[in-house]
Parts: sequence; C-alpha cells; structure tokens
Amino acid sequence: MTRQSIGAARVKELESAFKCPLCESPMRVADCKSLICCRNHTFDFSKHGYLNLSARPASRKYTKELFQARRKIITESGLYTKMHETIAGAIEKHKGGSADSYTMADLGCGEGSHLHRILEECGSPGITGIGLDLSKEGIVMASKKYEAPIWIVGDLAKSPLADQSLNVVLNILSPSNYKEFKRISAHDGLVIKVVPRSGYLKELREALFGREENMSYRNDETAALFRQHFVLADVIHLNYIKELNQAELGNMVRMTPLSWSSNKTRIDGYINRDYAEITVDLDILIGVSTDSG
Ligand SMILES: [Zn+2]
Repeated sequence: MTRQSIGAARVKELESAFKCPLCESPMRVADCKSLICCRNHTFDFSKHGYLNLSARPASRKYTKELFQARRKIITESGLYTKMHETIAGAIEKHKGGSADSYTMADLGCGEGSHLHRILEECGSPGITGIGLDLSKEGIVMASKKYEAPIWIVGDLAKSPLADQSLNVVLNILSPSNYKEFKRISAHDGLVIKVVPRSGYLKELREALFGREENMSYRNDETAALFRQHFVLADVIHLNYIKELNQAELGNMVRMTPLSWSSNKTRIDGYINRDYAEITVDLDILIGVSTDSG
C-alpha cells in the first residue's frame, strides 16, 4: 500500500468526522485517493498521506528549520516528556467510560511530535489520532515521519471536522478557538489546553531580551475564558528545570518565535554556551465539554 492509500484508508474509517471546508456538507473517501463532499468539492490525499483541507494560504513564518528544531527538542531532549506523561495520565483519569477506542485530535499540532508522543504514552492501539495545523510545512513533516495519525492542513477557525466528532481535543501552547473546540467535541469530551506560566522558558527569554525586558506570560484571562466554555475538571501545574546541551540550546532558539525579535549578539551568546538550565512552567487545563447543542 502507498502512503496515499494508507492515509485514505484511515480517513475512510472515520469519514463521518469530516465536513467540507468550503460548503460544510458531509464527505466520503473516493477511489482510495480523495475526500469528496456531496457537492463534489474534491481534496486529494498527498503522496505522504496527508490532506490539505485549508481554505486559505498558510503562514510562511513557520519554516522547516523551526519545525526540525522543535521535533529534536520534543523527541530527543526529553524537555516535554513529563508533560506528555501527565497529559496521557489525565486522559486516562478523566475520559470516563471504559472504551479504549476513541478519537483524539491535536489542534495546532505543528510537526506532530507532541501528538505522536502523547499517543505513545496513552498506549492504546484503539485511539485514532488527528493532527491539524494551518502550516503545510508542519503537516508535510508530520506525515513523512508518523504514519498512524490522520494529518490535515486546516484552519482552526473554520475546521473541516464535523460536530461532536472528537472525544479528546489537545491544544498545546498554541492559539485556541473555543467555539470550534466546543462544536467538534463529543458530549462529555475532554478539552486539554496547555498554557505557559510566568516561569516558562524564562532563562531563554532573559538571555534574548535581558532581565528588565523579560515579559512574563499572563494566563489568568486564558483560564477564565476556558472556564466560560468548559466545565473545569482539573488544573495541573507542571514546573521543572532541565539542563540542555549546546546543540539543544541552538534548537531551542530555532524553534521559538521569541528569537525573531532578538538581536544576533544575544542569540550567539546563548547558543555558544556549553549547557544551560531551562525552566518548564505550565498549566494543563482539563475541561469537559458538556454542551451537546
Ligand atoms: Zn463541499
């Protein structure tokens, strides 16, 4: 089987979870190569198996270099391992029911490594993973590396997913669209949002901008807004420090939009250290979607 037909077969098992991004009508897989709506809007699976269901052009700021650095940090440095384990544990604890087969989507998945790692930690072969991102570059990389999830180039604000089609929504350090999250979540589905706290990557921010310009993240408003849309089941506060080596420091700088507005001298000073500590300081908000309408 080609990657294209594998991708098509996976979506065929879950056809009802998709709606046409242009006219919102239901879709079906045709000839193991396309997803077609009843008005004949047609989207072909790429040779790597992903689908481009985006109605608008992607941001070009997220480059292949950024995603490669992000992947190395996520899969090799272990910086986010504790977060992946914690999220998998929270899903196990809160998902309710005993079903081992359910649908989990990472909305704003980038190059897919967080979703891949969380699926690994969850360990159940019955979970269907869906990764969605507006960046085609990210989805191409995800589909080349990770075969199992369904990978979609798509717009969070106008997502190609059907009403109440997901059991678990992940949204990790990435912008949200709560109205959409609510629409596509199944009744009693989980919505898990990871937001940075004030200490998140503070050593990196201090190195790039200096202590006095070190803007702290404020997430009170995010949490309040989240509460307006979902029943808050839990908030898990994760705080730990990890030491990164020189190669990893370079990847930290390359994966973060922070470096776009810093100067070269400061960046060089940071990436030429032999090693440095970095703080991970996050809140994991666990919400339950109770609105069935
Ligand atoms: Zn259509």
